[in-house]
Amino acid sequence: MISVTRNTNPRPKPDMGNLGFGKFFTDHMFALDYNQADGWHDARVTPYANLSLDPASMVLHYGQEVFEGLKAYRADDGRTLLFRPMENIRRLNRSNERLRIAPIDEQLFLEGMKTLIRTDIDWVPTTPDSSLYVRPFVIATDPYLGVQASKTYKFLIILSPVGAYYPEGMDPVKILIETDDVRAVKGGTGEAKTGGNYAATIRAQDKAKDKGYTQVLWLDGIHRRYIEEVGTMNVFLMLGGTVVTPPLEGTILPGVTRDSVLKLLASWDIPVQERPIALDELASAARDGTLGEAFGSGTAAVISPIGAFNVKGDVISVGGGRIGPLAQRLYDALTDIQWGRVPDPFGWIVEV
Ligand SMILES: *Cc1c(COP(=O)(O)O)cnc(C)c1O
Repeated sequence: MISVTRNTNPRPKPDMGNLGFGKFFTDHMFALDYNQADGWHDARVTPYANLSLDPASMVLHYGQEVFEGLKAYRADDGRTLLFRPMENIRRLNRSNERLRIAPIDEQLFLEGMKTLIRTDIDWVPTTPDSSLYVRPFVIATDPYLGVQASKTYKFLIILSPVGAYYPEGMDPVKILIETDDVRAVKGGTGEAKTGGNYAATIRAQDKAKDKGYTQVLWLDGIHRRYIEEVGTMNVFLMLGGTVVTPPLEGTILPGVTRDSVLKLLASWDIPVQERPIALDELASAARDGTLGEAFGSGTAAVISPIGAFNVKGDVISVGGGRIGPLAQRLYDALTDIQWGRVPDPFGWIVEV
């Protein structure tokens, strides 16, 4: 069902001890094509190669595109493990629905991903804390200048070996709260993983970098008052003894890591609230000492402790700039499951 054409000209492997993120690509890719007569068809693993696209391809003009991101981990016993891949598969299909792209069969998607990873199994890093990042995506390929749903698409999966997110150990990041640009509004595409959402954030991201901040925290698009998410991470605060995180109401990305954090916290009997969090609440909690921790969650970093927020020039520092115990506990619990170092009571791990 899935044909495999091996690359007869494999490239030299990079230094697996110095991979960084998203810089190196493997020898193969997975592809599926879509047209109206055949649906999604021609499942294949082929040598990694440039695409040939008509310059009028609709994705290049109107951004009809979706993507996903997850990782494969090499366990000490040699197995290669995926973390909750069905969540990413279903989320891509929800993004497809929002962008008017036909859904992809979940089992074919999973099998394609596994077949590709098996073909490139030598590329799954064995160096500590390194993993193989998996990037599925769909592009609209009709050569047509006009805004409508394309009638043809290409689905691809590419792989990138990535290094430890924290080569020098987990370090709290500084976040600039963006008060001019907004990322999403209800009814928009904020909860879909689609390229246009990210293109629209680069200006604010560059502004933050110029001021010495790592990432942007987005506020809601209507009131510019409620916190939403950070860059490509969901955000959590420890307020008193309760963990709070913004609710999924259409403007933020429903992170797989976010959901996993919520399930772990529930299993530890730590109270959690999914509710709107106003900027004033963050500032007053910092003032009265009830803001214990802040951290982001996402596939790339897993858990990213936040050491400071800057809002319109005022700096709110969190946890004395040190990693909080809850952020550390969540990071350890998640990575232990992901690397198969502990039993997985949640059924999250899928062997390749
Ligand atoms: C991908 C992404 C996340 C995190 O999702 P995970 O499934 O946890 O990796 C959060 N916010 C945005 C905007 C994202 O694109």
